[in-house]
Parts: sequence; C-alpha cells; structure tokens
Amino acid sequence: MLKIYNITKDFYYDVHLWGYGKLALIISIAGCNLDCDTCKDKEIISGNTFTDLNVNNLNLYEPYKYVVISGGEPLLQEKQLIELVLTLQKRKKFITIVTNGSLYIPDIIHNEFVSWIINYRLPSTNYTDWMITDWYHKLNANDFVKFELLTDTDFEFAMNIVQAIKEVNTTFFNFAFTVGNDSQILYDNFKNNILNEFTDVIYI
Ligand code: SF4
Repeated sequence: MLKIYNITKDFYYDVHLWGYGKLALIISIAGCNLDCDTCKDKEIISGNTFTDLNVNNLNLYEPYKYVVISGGEPLLQEKQLIELVLTLQKRKKFITIVTNGSLYIPDIIHNEFVSWIINYRLPSTNYTDWMITDWYHKLNANDFVKFELLTDTDFEFAMNIVQAIKEVNTTFFNFAFTVGNDSQILYDNFKNNILNEFTDVIYI
C-alpha cells in the first residue's frame, strides 16, 4: 500500500508536460526526507497523517487521463511508487512525478509515459547540499529541472547551477522556473538574464 496524504481530481497549474491547467488526478504522497524552510505544508513531512492507497481502487476516480504524483517525496516509497506507476501505465495514463532532487529515479519508471519534475532545492530551502545531479544525463525531453525562485540569492544560485548542468550534459531536457514571491525586481532580473540567455526555458 502507498501511504498518501491526499488524493483529488483538479486542474493542475504547475509545470506540466501534458499541458498547463489540465484536469488531473493529483496524488500527494505522505512523508518527506527534507524539511525545507519554505515548505508550505509541514504536516506532510512526518508522514504521520496518511491513508493507504490500494492501486486496485484507482478506477474509483475515473474518468481521468492525466496523473500528477507529488509529495512529500514520492521516491521514499519506491517499491509502492513503481507498482502505482506501472499500473497507471497499463491503463494508458500520462503521468507526472514531482521529486525534490535528493534521490535517484529508478530506470523502470523513467520512460516515455512519465514526465519527471526535479524540484531543485535552492538556498531559501536550506537543502542545496542534498541535490544530486550526476544522473542528469539520463533525463530526456519529457523531464524538467525546476527552480522556485524566492530570493535574489536563489536566482544567482539557480543561474550557476543551470550553467553547470548545461556544461556537462549533452542530452535535451527542460528547465523551468517559478518566481514565488511576486517580486517585480526578482522577476525582471530573471527575465533579463535567464530568458535572454536560454531558449529552452519554461516560466510559470
Ligand atoms: S521537499 Fe517539498 S514536501 Fe519536502 S520539505 Fe521540502 S517543500 Fe516540503
């Protein structure tokens, strides 16, 4: 059984390969290995608040075509996550999985039916040291490395990371950015630098 924090069918307005604002089954996984200063839902971290999801009951939520699995951190329950994803794939669903960038993705669920969002932790979260990037050569056009910019320090850090990632990876994948604090200065900084420098950037 997969321990989940919440399951809902709703329009999904975040970075999403299959289309911004698509109606999706959204599954939030209970438990996280990090404790970001910026976490909006601290209750999800401990994993103590959960219900069990039986993959055989997924048809209760039909009809849905798109599934978003986020957290918490989905990869903490790797075996159950693989079971869920393979079940969804058999049912021809399009899947997005959001991970916090501190764990490796199993090859078996890294394929053309799954879009991975690597939510790269920036200085405002206090978890930059936990990020692992040595497997990014496996990322493909379905996948995103996403940066949530909250401060100028986040912005400068993200710029350096993007440059470093581009220098060592020849495979194509997507970069995505969100500016999370409605700061016009931060947004202008972002726009004038990143958008001028990279063509393969998604901004939400
Ligand atoms: S990775 Fe996400 S869920 Fe985990 S503590 Fe950070 S913000 Fe919260």
